[in-house]
Amino acid sequence: MDAVRVENLVKRYGKIEALRGISFRIAPGELFAFLGPNGAGKTTTIRILCGLTRPTAGRAFFYEVDVFKRPVEAKKMAGLVPQTINLDLELTVAENLFIHGLLFGLSREEISRRARALLDFAELSDRKDHKVRTLSGGMRRRLLIIRALLHEPRILFLDEPTVGLDPHIRRRLWGLIKRIQQQGTTIFLTTHYIEEAEFLADRVAFIDQGRLIIEGTPQALMARLGEFAVDVVRESGLETKYFPNREEAEKFALALAEQAETVTIRRVNLEDAFVYFTGRKV
Ligand code: ATP
Repeated sequence: MDAVRVENLVKRYGKIEALRGISFRIAPGELFAFLGPNGAGKTTTIRILCGLTRPTAGRAFFYEVDVFKRPVEAKKMAGLVPQTINLDLELTVAENLFIHGLLFGLSREEISRRARALLDFAELSDRKDHKVRTLSGGMRRRLLIIRALLHEPRILFLDEPTVGLDPHIRRRLWGLIKRIQQQGTTIFLTTHYIEEAEFLADRVAFIDQGRLIIEGTPQALMARLGEFAVDVVRESGLETKYFPNREEAEKFALALAEQAETVTIRRVNLEDAFVYFTGRKV
C-alpha cells in the first residue's frame, strides 16, 4: 500500500496554471523530495495535500484514505511544517506546543508526555519556558518540526525546511529529518537546494512550471547522464558534456586542452541531471 498516492493533480489560480497534472507515489517510510525552482508548484502541492487549498482536479490518497473525500481522517495522518514560521512569538516553546496539541484534540497528559519526548529529541528542552521570540532561526525551525510531530502523524510534509539557514544549521536539521524517517515516518519534502535533495531523498522528482518532469533515485537520475562530466568554458559560455567513464572524459578533455580551452573534469551531480532534464537551473 502506498503511503501517498497522487493522481493527476491540477490547480489553476485564474489564468495561472500552478499544477498541470501531477502524479506520484510515496512508499511507507520513504523520503521523497520535490526539487524545483521558485514558482514550480511545490508549495501548492503541499497545501493541497494538507487540506489548505482545494485542487481544480485530481485525486490523492494517504494509505488509501481519500484526502479530499475524507479530509478529517487525512489531516490526522499528516503533519505540516510550513515554509513560513507561523509560531506565536510571544508565547513560550511549551505553550506553542500545548496550543497545537489542543487543536488536534490531544489531552493535557498526552501533550505534556509527547512534548517532553519531542523537546528532548530536538535538543530544545532547556528552552521550554523561553519565549519563541528569543530563539534563533535554527531553533524555531526545530520547534516547527516537532510541533508537526505532536499528533504522531504517519506522513510529515516539510516545505523548504532549511530555507535561509546557514550551512551548519542546515546540516543539523538534516540530521533531525533523517532521524524522524528512521523512526518510521514517511516524509515528503520540497526544496530548491540540490544538495539537500541529494543528501536526504530516497527518491526525487524534478518539478518545473507545474509539471513533474522525471523522478527516480538521485543515483539513477545522475546515471542517465553518465559518471563523469567535462565543463568547457568558451567565450560563448559554459558547455558541459557527459561520459560513462573517466577515460573517455579525459580523452575528450585532452583534445580540447590542445586548443587552450579551460576544461574541468568532475563527477556528475544532481544539478547536472536537473539542468539536463528541465533545461533550466534550479
Ligand atoms: P517557492 O519555491 O517560491 O515556494 P513553489 O514551487 O512552492 O515556489 P508555488 O508557491 O506552488 O511554487 O507557486 C506556483 C505558482 O502558483 C506560481 O506561479 C505562483 O505565483 C502561483 N500561486 C501560488 N499561490 C497563489 C495564489 N494564492 N494566488 C495566485 N497564484 C498563486
